[in-house]
Amino acid sequence: MNIKDFLKVMKDMGFNEVIVDNNSPLNEKIKLLNQINQEIQNCTKCDLHKNRKQAVLGEGNPNSPIMFIGEAPGEEEDKQGRPFVGRAGQLLTKAIETAGYKRSDVYIANINKCRPPNNRTPTIEEQEACFPYLKRQIEIINPSVLCLLGATAYRGIFKRETKITKERGSILDYEGKKVYITYHPAFVLRNPREEPTFFEDIKKALELAFK
Ligand code: URA
Repeated sequence: MNIKDFLKVMKDMGFNEVIVDNNSPLNEKIKLLNQINQEIQNCTKCDLHKNRKQAVLGEGNPNSPIMFIGEAPGEEEDKQGRPFVGRAGQLLTKAIETAGYKRSDVYIANINKCRPPNNRTPTIEEQEACFPYLKRQIEIINPSVLCLLGATAYRGIFKRETKITKERGSILDYEGKKVYITYHPAFVLRNPREEPTFFEDIKKALELAFK
């Protein structure tokens, strides 16, 4: 039912007033996230701003108990202003849906908000320049689970390098939150034999958050 029909039904039931609570916790989160979005669109803290079409904040349910964290926008994300909408993103979406959830149930973000030229890995300096934005997103959304997609997400959060093939499937702690480690979906596209493992990881991370 659309909002107009809903309001008509309410009116027919005798309700003459609708109170929109602009100060609800959800609205407060949306306001704070919009504020970060304005900042990143104007951000010049690192050279990645020079080549971007637009910065990509992230998207999803601001009340989600799980936040997926990738590396940085690619070509399609830079064009659309949305995270994980290219081929890798479609695989992530499929894994979420196969596990019985929707993209709109979760929140999806990246370590870096601007696309690196030719999709190269963002440098440590670029990651660190951008990290305060992600830190604020984590604080605002306050999920109980972070699901890190690949080595850059791992480095961005834990500030140390890792071999993701060694670490995947483990559950670590970051400031009291559970952190589920898995592959980046682009790696899975290049290594299709790993797809069942990736799908299983995404399911486990979701179950950890929604249990
Ligand atoms: N790869 C990422 O790490 N993030 C995106 O948003 C898209 C592709």
